[in-house]
Amino acid sequence: MTSVLIIEDEAEIISFLKPELTYEGYEVEAASDGREGFEKIQNEKFDIVLLDIMLPGLNGIEICRRVRKFSDIPIIMLTARDQIMDRVTGLDTGANDYLTKPFAIEELLARMRSVLRTASAGSHYEKTKQFLSFKDITLNRSFGEILKGDVVIDLTKKEYQLLEFLIKNKNNVLTRDQILNAVWGYDYIGDTNVVDVYVSYLRGKLEDNAKEKYITTVRGIGFIMKENA
Ligand code: CA
Repeated sequence: MTSVLIIEDEAEIISFLKPELTYEGYEVEAASDGREGFEKIQNEKFDIVLLDIMLPGLNGIEICRRVRKFSDIPIIMLTARDQIMDRVTGLDTGANDYLTKPFAIEELLARMRSVLRTASAGSHYEKTKQFLSFKDITLNRSFGEILKGDVVIDLTKKEYQLLEFLIKNKNNVLTRDQILNAVWGYDYIGDTNVVDVYVSYLRGKLEDNAKEKYITTVRGIGFIMKENA
């Protein structure tokens, strides 16, 4: 689940955003004081921060400046309509994006997705990556969603787990046993042929109309998803 921290002193905005973001699948926390918000970023783990500028305690610009000393966490500034200078300063301070209040929820959601996508490309997020990618395939692990380019690919749970394992280990040859243990578990008692069967399902779903092969068979060993193949 993607967690979001909202630092905003206007109770109205919090009570508007909280249910909307929760409905969209985010885990939402809020702080109405700048200092409290900053401490939450220091002490807890969030995937993204929505940060108001005019705040009691510590203002948004200062929070952003301090956070950037130890974290690359995506930050979207929420600025009032007349705070053009603030938003420029905000981006200089290291915010990833800004949004002028009042905004439509769709607009905010789009910005959040975009900022999260960009952030996941950075090495800082390698360990807890929300997104995994291979060529034009993107795996959104928060939502269990696979995109090929802009198209959503419909996979079963096992197909998804298999693809996730292959992409996590891209450019490495994986044996059938390794795949079987990781995706089906050590207590799986069926035929190892199941790996080949599911690889062929994946190929069918990913490679139709595609010129390039995604999953390569390594004869006598197993499979590899090779980036430069
Ligand atoms: Ca405010």
